[in-house]
Amino acid sequence: MDIFDVAVIGAGPAGSMAAKYAAKAGACTILLEEHAAAGWPVQCAGLLGEQAMAESELSQGSHILRGMMGASVFSPGGQRMDFKAKSCKAWVVDRRLFDQALLGRAVQEGANLRLRAAVRQIRREKGTSVLTLGGGQEIYAKIVISAEGVSALLARRAGIAPPQMILSGAQVQVPFAVEDAEKVEVHLGAAPGLFAWVIPLDERTARIGLCARDQGCEHLRAFLKTDVIKKRLQGSPVALNVGGLPLGPPAATAVEGLLAVGDAAGQVKPTSGGGIYPGLVAAKIAGGVTAAAAMEGDFSAKRLMEYDRLWRAALGRELEIGMRANRMLGKMSDAELDELVGYLAGKPRLIKAIEEHGDIDRPSRLMGRMLRHLDWDAIRLARLLGYALG
Ligand SMILES: Cc1cc2nc3c(=O)[nH]c(=O)nc-3n(C[C@H](O)[C@H](O)[C@H](O)COP(=O)(O)OP(=O)(O)OC[C@H]3O[C@@H](n4cnc5c(N)ncnc54)[C@H](O)[C@@H]3O)c2cc1C
Repeated sequence: MDIFDVAVIGAGPAGSMAAKYAAKAGACTILLEEHAAAGWPVQCAGLLGEQAMAESELSQGSHILRGMMGASVFSPGGQRMDFKAKSCKAWVVDRRLFDQALLGRAVQEGANLRLRAAVRQIRREKGTSVLTLGGGQEIYAKIVISAEGVSALLARRAGIAPPQMILSGAQVQVPFAVEDAEKVEVHLGAAPGLFAWVIPLDERTARIGLCARDQGCEHLRAFLKTDVIKKRLQGSPVALNVGGLPLGPPAATAVEGLLAVGDAAGQVKPTSGGGIYPGLVAAKIAGGVTAAAAMEGDFSAKRLMEYDRLWRAALGRELEIGMRANRMLGKMSDAELDELVGYLAGKPRLIKAIEEHGDIDRPSRLMGRMLRHLDWDAIRLARLLGYALG
């Protein structure tokens, strides 16, 4: 009977990166993906910040569709704020090709891959995890990494609690009169829970989507009928993506013999809904810790909680601040959002700070800098930012 050191469930970005790092650290690793290929179905807008791109270790390749240099932020009442940096601050990727490239790197590093391998059940037997696949076959592993994505059924059954909330996401790709193909549009107030976005793919096509507390498809349908969007639609949607977005990680992301990473662990930025950056950072830690623990022969919850401590040291404060900022935006009325966007739009020094230091992966740094640029009549905004930064 072959016993793998590490079995990773799910070949999304987090799973492939965890498998790569476990294999790189010398663990005999198997990566199990239920679909026939990685990256399908797509449930993502595919926007990656500079740090996410760096963490992916894939800063070149056909998965990169175009660079983004700035954004236009719209308030519900029609205020807008524009900023554009001198260089690319984010990239739009083809998630199918991106996920496949990450998977390729895991295999190059020595991870064994099984496609069409849906894990149905995990049981612990004499200190080993027995994973039962759809066809009944069993795989044995010392430690399991659940990178199953938002549903994370197996992680939940193993005792990892669900995230604090799951937003409902929906997106279409549509022929569209794009204003500036190097700028993302953010529409505040268009979706309770987060915001709506327009991400240009070229001058005539965009991904338009949103994440809301619930009923993402209904909110998207309504958003497509708003004046600011409707008049610019130039054809019917060609693709619809829907999916859940977990916010707020559970109190513990490791139990005996298993840990969770990526969406399965609620590692998503609450300010933007981006899960790829935190998922990749945590996955590298997960790969390293599981490889070491497997070689030591210690699969206890206490040993695996090292992963929990390390990823929280790297990301915990950022996710907490993001959660407060998300709640703050969620509480603001349309009039307050108009006031906020109008205020920011009239402050060139703030816009310059955003252009120079904007970072969608680590927004707290910019929030801290913005506090320094406020004048006395901005007490209200200072209070809001102060609340978000704790
Ligand atoms: C509408 C929308 C837009 C988004 N836009 C962005 C964005 O622009 N930028 C960004 O950074 N993030 C974005 N996200 C979030 C991002 O898509 C996720 O955070 C990211 O995909 C999480 O990666 P993951 O590897 O944890 O999980 P996933 O990518 O969900 O991968 C999980 C994998 O596990 C497999 N799997 C599940 N169960 C089993 C099983 N039992 N056995 C075998 N395989 C299994 C699945 O088939 C899948 O391949 C968006 C999300 C939504 C919903």
